[in-house]
Amino acid sequence: MFFRGDQLKKVFLKAKRDRFGIVASNVVFDSQIRGIVQGYAAQRSDGLFQMSSGAVKYAAGETKEINTGAQLISSMVKIIASQYKNSGVGLHIDHATPNYFDFVVYCIENDLVSSVMIDASKEDFEENIRISLEVVKVAHKHGVLVEGEIGYIKGTEDEIVSDTQLYTKPDEALEYVKRTGVDLFAASVGTNHGVTKGSKVTLKLDLIKEIDNLLIANNVETGIVLHGASGLTAKQQMDAINNGVIKINKDTHYQMDFARETQAYWEKEKDAILKPDSISEDDYVPDKKRFDPRKWILKSELAMQASVEELVQITGSTGKSILL
Ligand SMILES: [Zn+2]
Repeated sequence: MFFRGDQLKKVFLKAKRDRFGIVASNVVFDSQIRGIVQGYAAQRSDGLFQMSSGAVKYAAGETKEINTGAQLISSMVKIIASQYKNSGVGLHIDHATPNYFDFVVYCIENDLVSSVMIDASKEDFEENIRISLEVVKVAHKHGVLVEGEIGYIKGTEDEIVSDTQLYTKPDEALEYVKRTGVDLFAASVGTNHGVTKGSKVTLKLDLIKEIDNLLIANNVETGIVLHGASGLTAKQQMDAINNGVIKINKDTHYQMDFARETQAYWEKEKDAILKPDSISEDDYVPDKKRFDPRKWILKSELAMQASVEELVQITGSTGKSILL
């Protein structure tokens, strides 16, 4: 089923208490949503979908009208998820920079999302707090959760590009969380957006733990979010969860699944649409049974389902849905 903010809050509280992670999956189109909902449901796990500013532009088509794109993605998530009773999913806005403020408010007021991320991390600290607080005020009035960020996460994700890594400072994290009242907090602790290999990432576990302990000691325990987690090893993800992370973001991972399965299919089946040299123009007939999009897109869909099932097993959320 679809989770509104108040139910998603319960999901995160349970994850924090029982030390498991919620896999947050970036999506754009229907086959991704279908495959990933099926994966969460098969594992009786709750989960989260995320849409970026680029995703909502794409979803709308050539108009790139972001409110329309968000309506479409939200409807697809709600409808597909409504078929499952042993697993719930929320919908989150990923990395909304301050120029998307009106868009965030639109999604909150039209009940499209369960949570939102305001990423004002490129602003100075005081300005970041001011903007984040504005979003928290609107969101909490509607029962929607808010994720904020301080420090830069290196790499490229959609419209978010950062050439530098700036680790989150624990005392700034505490002040930020206290003054804004955010529900979730993206920490810059060594992961990178985009394609990276976990073995090359120095995940600063001590920093995650230090931030978590400081928040707990000050009675503002908040879920920590790990961005850029696609390339991390299973052990790195578990270590992060054991040190206070409750939301693990995945985007690139699914994009690779989709591209790889499509490539493998057409490598094998290319004569369904391309005439082999050995057959004459007159004798060649394209094979509808093999180029029907339902035939090959399904392969990518099932690959994403397999990925999310593996991911929720790693993060420990299998069988932990609040609906069970
Ligand atoms: Zn991110």
